[in-house]
Amino acid sequence: MCGIFGIHSRQVDVANLTYFGLFSLQHRGQESAGIAVGDGQCVKLHRDMGLVAQVFNSATLSSLRGTVAIGHTRYSTTGASRLENAHPVPFLHPALGPGAIAHNGNLINSQAIRRELEEDGVAFDTGLDTEVMARLIEHTHGSDWAQVLSQAFRRVVGAYSCAVVTSDSVIALRDPYGFRPLCLGYLPLAGQPAHLVASESCALDTVNAKFVREVRPGEMVIMNDHGLSSVQFQTSGRHAMCVFEFIYFARPDSLLKNCELEEARIRMGRELALAQPVEADMVIGLPDSGTPAAIGYAEASGIPYREGLVKSRYINRTFIQPDQSLRESGVILKLNPLKRSLRGKRIIAVDDSMVRGTTSRRIIEVLKKAGAKEVHLRISSPPMRFPCFMGVDIGSTKQLVASGRSVEEVRSFIGADSLAYISIPGLMRAVGAGTLDQFCRACFDGAYPVPVPQQLEMDKMAFEAPLAAQPAS
Ligand code: AMP
Repeated sequence: MCGIFGIHSRQVDVANLTYFGLFSLQHRGQESAGIAVGDGQCVKLHRDMGLVAQVFNSATLSSLRGTVAIGHTRYSTTGASRLENAHPVPFLHPALGPGAIAHNGNLINSQAIRRELEEDGVAFDTGLDTEVMARLIEHTHGSDWAQVLSQAFRRVVGAYSCAVVTSDSVIALRDPYGFRPLCLGYLPLAGQPAHLVASESCALDTVNAKFVREVRPGEMVIMNDHGLSSVQFQTSGRHAMCVFEFIYFARPDSLLKNCELEEARIRMGRELALAQPVEADMVIGLPDSGTPAAIGYAEASGIPYREGLVKSRYINRTFIQPDQSLRESGVILKLNPLKRSLRGKRIIAVDDSMVRGTTSRRIIEVLKKAGAKEVHLRISSPPMRFPCFMGVDIGSTKQLVASGRSVEEVRSFIGADSLAYISIPGLMRAVGAGTLDQFCRACFDGAYPVPVPQQLEMDKMAFEAPLAAQPAS
């Protein structure tokens, strides 16, 4: 995943606003953060491992003076979780000067482009697909940035929402399918308004900016002293926004496709309740991401919604930590059951997604230990059976618990009394997809909107033997 932010203004402290914008994009990546600023001549950069609040202090922010800034929060999908892989990634164009790029997404032809560049003698410092973009920009001819970037980006295939900073401009680009979100906003100021881009509208709210619209798939937006201009640098036959942004990733207070995501998630819960009813005493959400769907389930079923688990606010999203042992201990630290409310009750527990099944299995164990009589798990996304090549870290096929297994096999592995998922048509209704399918939902049905190179597919499509239904340790 990853969060990106960009701003141009001569009137406000652009690094400071970027810092606050990145706070609201922290949920999109917690491994590293960075800000790059253009001051008319140079591009200055500060990036480090850790959360936004750990990476920056008032001294680092005040060293980043300028009129244009971009920022990034990182969650790795290519390249390890290391400092040299933090964004923004700097570059130096031989004719146009310095710049830096921040990227959310995943390219599927970066290896091919990298090989071509290496054959021409280009050296790489990292394994990042974003560095491939940076080197490609350096080696693309053109008389201005718009020309160089549109030419360079026409060569890359995959998911990208990017912010590029040069010495005097911020340039934002979104791939022609619109896999990852990106929106535009402005800050009304006396004189020239400040123009902004952000992965999600919640980051605009945080800095008091007004949401204008989403950056269109295949659109490049340029923000500098001349104001804001836009170029449609590429088109595609269809749009394919990642439906997982609606299910889980983006914050519930963000707008996507003119929909506040909390609302879409409540509708997912309603769909689930109508299609997958079960008798029970209460509905609980798995905090925080399962909560809106649980509210929708409770509303549609008439079964009371209650809190069943209290979440510590001080532990990061468990899943986002790169290794399995951290992930597992994170689940125990994070949630404490309300034992007296749960004792002897038949519970419907609603979560937004099941990926590896680690979380569900542990939570069901916790609820049962707390005295729940029955635990019926309802998931507000369909079974996830295929890997993502477009920037969501859901691992390879063999890590996906629902891949190659029936719902009953998964139920028995996680130890629930019953298990049901929302259907793909139910999900499409909830997100308001209508007749024209504008979403990528390849993780559920394997229908990738762009052909995935065979080698990439082989790396992620290995199946594994059936799971043993041993008790969770
Ligand atoms: P798992 O234990 O792998 O089944 O994790 C599923 C839980 O992690 C769900 O409760 C989701 O809220 C969350 N989740 C799902 N997908 C992701 C992802 N790609 N990154 C981080 N968290 C995720």
